[in-house]
Amino acid sequence: MYQDLARRPAPRLCLARTECCQFELTGLTPHLTKGEALLAAKAFRATGRRELAVADDAVCPMLKRATGRCLIYADRPFGCRTHFCDAAGGPYARKEVLDLIRRLEDLDVRLKGDGPRKLLPAVADALAELR
Ligand code: SF4
Repeated sequence: MYQDLARRPAPRLCLARTECCQFELTGLTPHLTKGEALLAAKAFRATGRRELAVADDAVCPMLKRATGRCLIYADRPFGCRTHFCDAAGGPYARKEVLDLIRRLEDLDVRLKGDGPRKLLPAVADALAELR
């Protein structure tokens, strides 16, 4: 689904400013289906880290403070790819990605997920499930 999204000719370009990764600034937090959370958790573990280092969602736990980069950029959730800031071209219209949203929801049902959940608890639970 992420690859399908990347093939769509949307004129948007993430400049990695990371404002959208600082949830306390935007007031918005990505919500992940279970498949997205499991993929994010696997990518996080692949960095050698075991546990999330934050207890609140003021800033995304996947944001490496020292570099200002996403630790899991290649596997970042769908919302991180589609809810672009104005500098990146603005968010996708729902109709542009509705088919992909439905596929994520279908996968969530197959994985016995609970629908989209806030990034921090979704990834924390996924990390626990990977043990
Ligand atoms: S997963 Fe990565 S791109 Fe998405 S909010 Fe967190 S740090 Fe930013």
